[in-house]
Amino acid sequence: MAKRVYWFGGGKADGGAVDVALLGGKGAHLAEMASLGLPVPPGLTITCDCCEEFFRNDRKLCDDLKADVLAGLKAVEQETGRIFGGSESPLLLSVRSGSRASMPGMLDTVLNLGLNDETVQALGHDAGDARFAWDSYRRFIQMYADVVMGLDNEIFEEVLEDEKGRLGRQNDTDLSAVEWQHVVDLYKRLIEDELDESFPQDPHVQLWKAIAAVFSSWHNARAVTYRTLHRIPETWGTAVNVQAMVFGNLGSTSATGVAFTRNPSTGEKALYGEFLANAQGEDVVAGIRTPQSITEEGRLASGSEKPSMEKLMPETFQEFREICERLERHYQDLQDVEFTVERGKLWMLQTRNGKRTTKAAMRVAVDMVEEGLITEEQAVCRIDPPSLDQLLHPTIDPRVERHQIGSGLPASPGAATGEIVFTAEQAVDAEAEGRRVILVRIETSPEDIHGMHAAEAILTTRGGMTSHAAVVARGMGIPCVVGAGSMRVDLRNELLTGVGGVTLKKGDIVTIDGSSGQILKGSVAMQQPELSGDFGKLMTWADKARRMQVRTNADTPQDARSARSFGAEGIGLCRTEHMFFEGERILAMREMILAEDETARRAALEKLLPLQRSDFTELFTIMHGLPVTIRLLDPPLHEFLPKTEAEIDDVARAMGMPPAFLARRIDAIHEFNPMLGHRGCRLAISYPEIAEMQARAIFEAAAEAARETGEPVELEILVPLVSLRAELDYVKGVIDAVAVEVFGETDVKIGYLTGTMIELPRAAIRAHVIAETAEFFSFGTNDLTQTTFGISRDDAATFIPTYQRKGIIEHDPFVSLDFDGVGELIQIAAERGRKTKPDLKMGICGEHGGDPASIHFCENADLDYVSCSPFRVPVARLAAAQAAIAKRNA
Ligand code: ADP
Ligand code: MG
Ligand code: MG
Repeated sequence: MAKRVYWFGGGKADGGAVDVALLGGKGAHLAEMASLGLPVPPGLTITCDCCEEFFRNDRKLCDDLKADVLAGLKAVEQETGRIFGGSESPLLLSVRSGSRASMPGMLDTVLNLGLNDETVQALGHDAGDARFAWDSYRRFIQMYADVVMGLDNEIFEEVLEDEKGRLGRQNDTDLSAVEWQHVVDLYKRLIEDELDESFPQDPHVQLWKAIAAVFSSWHNARAVTYRTLHRIPETWGTAVNVQAMVFGNLGSTSATGVAFTRNPSTGEKALYGEFLANAQGEDVVAGIRTPQSITEEGRLASGSEKPSMEKLMPETFQEFREICERLERHYQDLQDVEFTVERGKLWMLQTRNGKRTTKAAMRVAVDMVEEGLITEEQAVCRIDPPSLDQLLHPTIDPRVERHQIGSGLPASPGAATGEIVFTAEQAVDAEAEGRRVILVRIETSPEDIHGMHAAEAILTTRGGMTSHAAVVARGMGIPCVVGAGSMRVDLRNELLTGVGGVTLKKGDIVTIDGSSGQILKGSVAMQQPELSGDFGKLMTWADKARRMQVRTNADTPQDARSARSFGAEGIGLCRTEHMFFEGERILAMREMILAEDETARRAALEKLLPLQRSDFTELFTIMHGLPVTIRLLDPPLHEFLPKTEAEIDDVARAMGMPPAFLARRIDAIHEFNPMLGHRGCRLAISYPEIAEMQARAIFEAAAEAARETGEPVELEILVPLVSLRAELDYVKGVIDAVAVEVFGETDVKIGYLTGTMIELPRAAIRAHVIAETAEFFSFGTNDLTQTTFGISRDDAATFIPTYQRKGIIEHDPFVSLDFDGVGELIQIAAERGRKTKPDLKMGICGEHGGDPASIHFCENADLDYVSCSPFRVPVARLAAAQAAIAKRNA
């Protein structure tokens, strides 16, 4: 077994090892602070590996470990001039957990260890303060009983409260030595009553049991849950730090406190923290007394009367401030520190990179570049890409009270308030009257698109993170909560029932928080997004660092405009079918689909042509100068078919045929498995006139927009669902023929590429052959995931969560790319495609284009661009930069 125990203190650290994986965060940073010469009480760290050994030995400490700990203690005794268990100058210890990843408050710590009926006297004598000694002893009994003996802290607090009541005392600090001694007696009796066992007097027994208890806390229920939530491996284990105690409870010149080297909520460069005089350990956070501000500035800001540390102990404060600055320079990041002052002498007890809001993270990163502490690339790597979402949408003011009536999955971030409506039509009508609405559905379907556009936010009671509502809302950048299973939607009576039976009717006001998944009653105060200077600077640095382009998936002018404002460098996917749902268009679309022969179909297509052309013209005008990929009609036709009787009547009237006859046509088109049915390029092959109409609309629009803007788009026409080269050849033939026609008519020649989606395993495997025709590849990872796994995305929500819970898969492959399977297909396709055409342009579209892990994969697969929904564009720009930096530094 490797070295088990590392020593630190007196300006040195054993082996100088700063290995967080071995010593845990707390131990590694204590050692590092010690070797920087900062005042750190001496101690030793038992490695994380010993935790594993401990569990292997049925939760027993092995003799070798004990011997190493005792040897380390000798050094601590020498350094402090105190003896562990000594009847004179006793050494007291803290036994502190500290794992590799920060798990705040999840693991246990015991303070003041080594006290017993004898050493307590010696401690009081040494310090000349018996009150302090007895206060420390009762603290020790309380913590030890909790952590080691499993007695709830609360029963001790009750005894103490009773005693304070009896004595008529307000604060703990008001109790005298004798009174604390009495509390100690009461505590010891309480333990005997509860457990039939007495409080251990032997300091070595205390030590071994405390170390074992801290190791054991690795497997306590709250730690296990925390690890699951934060994906921290079970195998890491915790280190144990055994450290000489210093005392913040030694009267009014002593104190304990916590601080951030900069403000963690705004990022402002100002020391920010709290302390309590004559207190110990976690008293500051435990809310026993109201803590005082560390700086004078902080005291003034909080309007407190109580003196700041800066005022109360100016010299110690000065030293503390300098140490904070030193730590920041050393770690090149905002630090979160814990400290204690013992009779005016400052001791540092912990430092780590501080948690902060996104806003603060930006400010700190930008300031540190300007201060010369870090480089621009380091700053770019400091920001967690998904956290940008917090900045791009309105959010609920964190200070307001929330009246929560339900919750679901946080499917699309941001918050919105509005009246409840239950159908897409109601949403559209209300919007036309200038009212803000929240569309509430059991689930949504493509027919609800216009209503979703009109709504401020969407709430569904069914479906998962990749349900229709979730995907579309993310695409539109509107807040959405899905799968709110605790709520009930009664469509007939237009009622929404929440937890506790709160029932809301149509027109009542709700607020949706798509970032947390909460549904709140009424309206609440919001904070508007602020894309201020720091954001702009960081994004510029990110753009400098990245290699891949970032495009957007945009179907409407509105999407394209917002994506361009977020920095999109083109459209990677425009799904033309979404253009067919709006208003009157759906009628023409239905006529086209239900047409009995080519002549009737062409007549319907004639009506669609000008509509498509004007949509494309607007899109191309907005995106002038940039690449735009237009995908030909893809989804199964049934998605467009009329469903209600009224809809069937409408179409029948327009087509001049009896409704019953039309109903039979609809039946004839019915497919058993539409996702694998008559869709994609298969439609263009059966009905080339559809592709002809679309190609004509595209070319005519491109010519017109080029004339208007003077800057044509880089046109890319995308053929969906290809598995055979011959399919692509056929459709490309149709497109090229139309191009020749239109260019002849308009006398304008527009450059264009024809490419294919790689979204079927066969296409990936045969990429070298398909690349003979294709001029670019776009990886449609939604369908490729669907077809690789043979899992229907629309039905995945019923079992993927179970798979995750049972540990069968780790991530939902529709959210984060399955590198092993789908990823390998992408790599194969990229490699084979490039073998045929070395410069073949390749990108990824689909939900994964905005997922940072998937973006890293694309960087490593050498793709040219990623394409994601408009609101994810900044996230993707940042993630692409981080991926490029990581690859360069690898
Ligand atoms: P956590 O990881 O929960 O913060 P710590 O091990 O940091 O637990 O201990 C909590 C608090 O106990 C510290 O913030 C500090 O105030 C106090 N403490 C820990 N070790 C010592 C020590 N050697 N001397 C004095 N106080 C200590
Ligand atoms: Mg703590
Ligand atoms: Mg701590």
